[in-house]
Parts: sequence; structure tokens; C-alpha cells
Amino acid sequence: MKDAAPVVFVVLNVDDFEPGRYARTRLLQTAGYHVHEAATGADALKAVAAVRPSVVILDVNLPDMSGLEVCRRIKQDEQLGSTLVLQTSASAIAPIDLALGLQIGADAYLTEPVDPQVLLGTIAALLRISAAERQLQQTNEELRRSNEDLARFAYIASHDLQEPLRTITTYSQLLARRYRGQYGEEADQFVRFIVEGTSRMSELIRDLLLYSQVGAKREFQPVDLQDVLARTVTSLNAAIEDSRAEITNEPLPVLTADRDQMDHLFQNLISNAIKYRSSEAPRIHISSSAQGRDTWQLSVRDNGIGFPLRYADQIFEAFRRLDRTTTTGTGVGLAIAKRVVENHGGRIWADSVPGEGSTFHFTLVSQRL
Ligand code: ADP
Repeated sequence: MKDAAPVVFVVLNVDDFEPGRYARTRLLQTAGYHVHEAATGADALKAVAAVRPSVVILDVNLPDMSGLEVCRRIKQDEQLGSTLVLQTSASAIAPIDLALGLQIGADAYLTEPVDPQVLLGTIAALLRISAAERQLQQTNEELRRSNEDLARFAYIASHDLQEPLRTITTYSQLLARRYRGQYGEEADQFVRFIVEGTSRMSELIRDLLLYSQVGAKREFQPVDLQDVLARTVTSLNAAIEDSRAEITNEPLPVLTADRDQMDHLFQNLISNAIKYRSSEAPRIHISSSAQGRDTWQLSVRDNGIGFPLRYADQIFEAFRRLDRTTTTGTGVGLAIAKRVVENHGGRIWADSVPGEGSTFHFTLVSQRL
């Protein structure tokens, strides 16, 4: 098999001092680079656009404009911004200029006289880093696309599954109602299992759909978490009264967030705090503290049954449930909560002492509109 042809990188060598430029071009050619030259800033900018070099070696002192300005224009250009710029300057350069050069976007800065091996080593290192960056960008892009595909798949699958399930539910309920007692106790029991199974499946599909939707859309607006809590309490009113739950809270912030997602988050955490209660009436406390200008840490503490700490990570996985016997649920609530928090730049984690209660902590970052 023949080896693939080696990649030849193009270097633009910019210097108005001809003998120095010539020597450098020879050095680069000997090292295998394809070299173009320019003696002024204006020519350098033209050449960058025309030959699209991988690396520009740019002297700071050019006759028509500063090399720093040339670098700034290259880096600000949408098409050419990824060109690597290696700035060089006379030894008298002040550290402040060096810092400025890097701030403007130079990828490296060398002071004359530049040792040939250092120059070649620096160019090779820049090319390696930029190849790694490109690879990373490509991988990120692929990951983003496959995540989107997956979310779309989950959405379509759960959406389409609902329809045949509705038919099964309707007819099994009809069977149960219309023919109860006519085919013996066992037949009644079988039909009951079908009815229960379909209603369970419909819950699972509904939550899967919700989970996939939480990933897909985000509409940010100012949201008062105090209002979110009030809405949650209203919608959980029956469960709160039945369990005689007491909910207290510290003042909650206003932040830029997705309102529906905040509703889901509070609803899931507070309904869990009620659902996983001990024999005592639930006492639930929500606290909040600012962490910097845009970030808050909140926690929802309960006095419920708790859970063994070794499950503290697993409970955030979709369909993961620790106690399948005494409570109902699909195991998706905390997975949704995690997605919501991550959509808002935060993270969520849990603490618990079995038999004493649990605390769910999360951070939220106010989003930019
Ligand atoms: P579900 O409540 O539908 O099972 P969740 O994703 O909301 O699903 O929770 C996953 C699991 O985490 C629950 O099955 C339960 O075992 C545990 N869990 C969640 N919240 C609490 C809580 N406040 N106290 C104790 N265990 C909890």
C-alpha cells in the first residue's frame, strides 16, 4: 500500500527586511513548508486572503502598519480568524507589547533573534494544537447532532406509541366494563391486568415524551421562583392536604429562565418530598443563597424516608426507581429535574440519611436573553 501524501502546510512569511525574510523562507522550505512572502502589512493581508496560509509569521515592525494591527484584522475576520499567527519582534520589545500581541489574538510571540530550531518547533506545536482543536470541534459537532437525533427519535417514538396504546386502553376498559362477571373470576383478573398495564405504559410514555421535550426547547424570560413555588403548591394542593405537609421557604430569587421548566423542576422535587414521606407529616424547606452575580444555589430538604447514599447519582437516571413496591411513579422525575438544571447552566445533587430525610441541592445560572 502506498503511504498517503504528506500534508504540506502553507506559511506566509511577513518581514520588510529582505535578507532576514529570505533566510527564514529558506529555513521553512528546507523543513518542508510551502512559503509565501510579504513585505508590508497591506500585502500580508492580501496574501492571507489569497493563499489561506496555515501559519503567518509576522514581524511587528512593518513600514505601513504595525504587525499587531495586521494580526488584529486577521483574527477579526470571520473567514480568516482561525489562521495561526506567530508574531516576532526586535529584542527591545517591552513585555506590555508582548502581552498586547497575545491579547489581540497572536497564537505565539517570539523575540528576535529567533533560533531556527525554536521557530520550527513553535510552528510545529501551533499546528499540532490547532489540529487537536479542530478535531475537538468536529467531535463536539457530531455529538450535538447525535444528541439532537436521539431527542427527536425519543419524541417521535413516544408520540407515535401513544396512538395504538389509546386504542388498547379504550377497548380493554370496554371489555372490563361490559363483560365483567360473564367469563369467570380469572378472566376478570386478566382483563384487570391488561387495564393496569396499559395505564402504566401510558404514564411511562407520557413521561418519556416530557423528558425528550425538556431537552428540545428553551424559552428564556424573567421568572420569579417565588411564583413558581406558589404555582407548585397550588397544583399539589390535594397531596399537601392529604399528607398534612408543611412547606416553608427562604425568599427565592427572580432569574432569567424557562418558566415551564422551572415549574417542572419544583413540581418534581416537592412532589417527591411528599411522596417519599415517613410516618410523620412531611416538613419541606426550600432554601436559597446567591453565589456570585448570576448564580443561585437552592435546596429542597425533607424529613422523609431518605435513601442510601450509594444511590445518590443513580436516582437522576431516567426510569431509575429505588422503591417499586410502595409508591407509584415512572422514575423520570429526577432525570427531568437534572435536564432542566443543566439547561440552566447548573448542576443537581442529593444528600440523604435513610430514615431521617433527603436534601436535593441545585444551582441555577440566570440566562442571557
Ligand atoms: P419516581 O418518583 O417516579 O420514582 P424520580 O426520578 O422522581 O422518579 O425519583 C427516582 C427515585 O429517587 C425514586 O424512585 C426514589 O427512590 C428516589 N427519591 C426521589 N426523591 C426522593 C426523596 N425526596 N426522598 C427519598 N427518595 C427519593
